Amino acid sequence: MIPARVIVAESLKSVAAKVATQIALLKKHNERDKMKSTKITAVPTHIITGFLGVGKTSAILQLLTNKPSNERWAILVNEFGEIGVDGSFFSGQYTEKQGVFIREVPGGCMCCAAGVPMQIALNQLLLQAKPDRLLIEPTGLGHPKEIIKALSAKHYKEALSLQKTVTLVDARNVNNTRYTSHDIFNQQIAIADIVIGNKVDLYQDEDKTRLIDYVKVHGQANADVVFAQQGNIKLSILAGPTTLSLPAASPHRPTKEVMTADLTIPECGFIKAINTGASFNSVGWRFTEEKTFNYAKLKGFFSDVNAERIKAVFITELGVFSYNFTADGLTETALNFTKESRIEIISKQLDDTVEAQLMACIN
Ligand SMILES: [Zn+2]
Repeated sequence: MIPARVIVAESLKSVAAKVATQIALLKKHNERDKMKSTKITAVPTHIITGFLGVGKTSAILQLLTNKPSNERWAILVNEFGEIGVDGSFFSGQYTEKQGVFIREVPGGCMCCAAGVPMQIALNQLLLQAKPDRLLIEPTGLGHPKEIIKALSAKHYKEALSLQKTVTLVDARNVNNTRYTSHDIFNQQIAIADIVIGNKVDLYQDEDKTRLIDYVKVHGQANADVVFAQQGNIKLSILAGPTTLSLPAASPHRPTKEVMTADLTIPECGFIKAINTGASFNSVGWRFTEEKTFNYAKLKGFFSDVNAERIKAVFITELGVFSYNFTADGLTETALNFTKESRIEIISKQLDDTVEAQLMACIN
């Protein structure tokens, strides 16, 4: 069992290496100077956000079917996985000859994990496409507010004209705390000028009203709610500047988990960190050595928990154990020592009852 902090350190190393390479590239090509000389200005830019699986890609495909043939459109697709898929999906259907220019930014959220690659990809895309319109699809697990801030930065102020921000929501999820307790889900609604209740053909009668009511509470005061089937939205409803005003971003900082891993655990005896890095959400806790876990209860915890992957080291009354939970089951290994108990749960959806279940395992 590799300690969680080693894994974090390794992934940070690889992120650092990628960033260093990209910075070198950025300097080499001197994209910023080129951009100044080509004077790309006020490109209408649409940010199309929404949770995993809500239909962002379909919505962009629908918009593309209405692209005037004489216009050049650029599409920037951001993906959480290291190997991007959506870019190939679009390029499989549209070519640059048809005036559709695609760039893919895999490897995590475009505001942080993939921040520098995003800048490079966007600059290159603008230079190459000289687009009449830019569509940006952030990953469903990106940081919506930070992404808007990044695109409002001084560097893009002249080049991009941020249009109404669109958030696609499956209204059936508004009835599901796995979504409504998720900060990113709520942030996506909070930043929207237009909320699109997608997959309306699959709704029950009350789903529409529930979404409208949810947006009244969590959305911007003037946010519109419209409904669509299979992402079929009209470009005309997206036109016009966004009414959202966020302070422009400062250059991105190291990821949050670095700090959490280094922090002193507060007096309550534990510290929690949510991480939207890698290809899934993850949630983790560190516990001081004074907290002893009940060995039998931990076994119960692992058999009940709903997650794709769990890595943990626990101090129990029977000694120290590491746990590795995968689709193939749970592996337990006795350890000689650990400084503190740690657990990281990787899941498509964070279960908000996990913390209580975990705390119930403490002796
Ligand atoms: Zn981010």
